[in-house]
Amino acid sequence: MSASESTVFPRTPRTRVRRRGGRANYERDVVHAILDEALVAHVGFVADGQPYVIPMLHARAGGELVLHGSPLSRMLGTLRDGVPVCVTVTLLDGVVLARSAFHHSLNYRSVVVLGTARAITDDARKREALDALVEHVARGRTRDARGPSAAELDATEVLAIPLAEASAKIRTGPPQDAAEDRDLPVWAGELPLHLTPLAPRPACDLPLPDYLEEYSRVPAE
Ligand SMILES: Cc1cc2nc3c(=O)[nH]c(=O)nc-3n(C[C@H](O)[C@H](O)[C@H](O)COP(=O)(O)OP(=O)(O)OC[C@H]3O[C@@H](n4cnc5c(N)ncnc54)[C@H](O)[C@@H]3O)c2cc1C
Repeated sequence: MSASESTVFPRTPRTRVRRRGGRANYERDVVHAILDEALVAHVGFVADGQPYVIPMLHARAGGELVLHGSPLSRMLGTLRDGVPVCVTVTLLDGVVLARSAFHHSLNYRSVVVLGTARAITDDARKREALDALVEHVARGRTRDARGPSAAELDATEVLAIPLAEASAKIRTGPPQDAAEDRDLPVWAGELPLHLTPLAPRPACDLPLPDYLEEYSRVPAE
């Protein structure tokens, strides 16, 4: 089985979680599920010696992460030149209130991907990647939305980052107070947080599509 087919990402010196290593997870399915649920990625790179971390939409297309934007974007231009990139996504699952200030925490699922990007230039592959981005925002949307024209395709830079070096880190559960604090008269526990859609605000007179009626960030089985 090759590295790209393996069900786990290799634990490299760069992706070995050092603090609370028990929360690390290198399962490909787990990393993919977090990437698929998250709407926003933070894309980090260094340009002219200055680190930047830029929020972006991302999508997973099989074993690759895809990003898109204007060909004039400094960020996409820098990444296209093959500089090392770090992409992070975070799903916030709750705040964790301990009896001591020290043990307050957050429940979360996060992923860090390391690699280098390459431009997708083939029109058919570009369309697939853009479809993946639209589907990532709203599953089923490519059935309805007009696809990109040739001019729109030209005006869009699309980059792919192979998912070859990645880690997940996950915290779940209650606060972990020190034994001597457990009898303190202080409320302790978790406040779960969840991304929930509110009522859509139509900009047209058409009925609501089913994928908005049932909108959820949790990927379908
Ligand atoms: C949720 C979300 C999703 C986005 N998705 C995309 C996407 O899919 N594709 C895309 O091209 N862009 C996306 N953007 C916008 C993106 O963050 C950049 O603003 C945009 O790509 C411009 O990049 P640039 O290389 O031209 O900016 P740069 O020229 O690199 O930016 C110059 C400076 O502008 C400031 N800046 C740039 N962007 C931001 C920002 N978002 N917030 C605060 N300061 C900023 C920083 O100081 C930066 O150093 C998204 C933004 C958000 C918040």
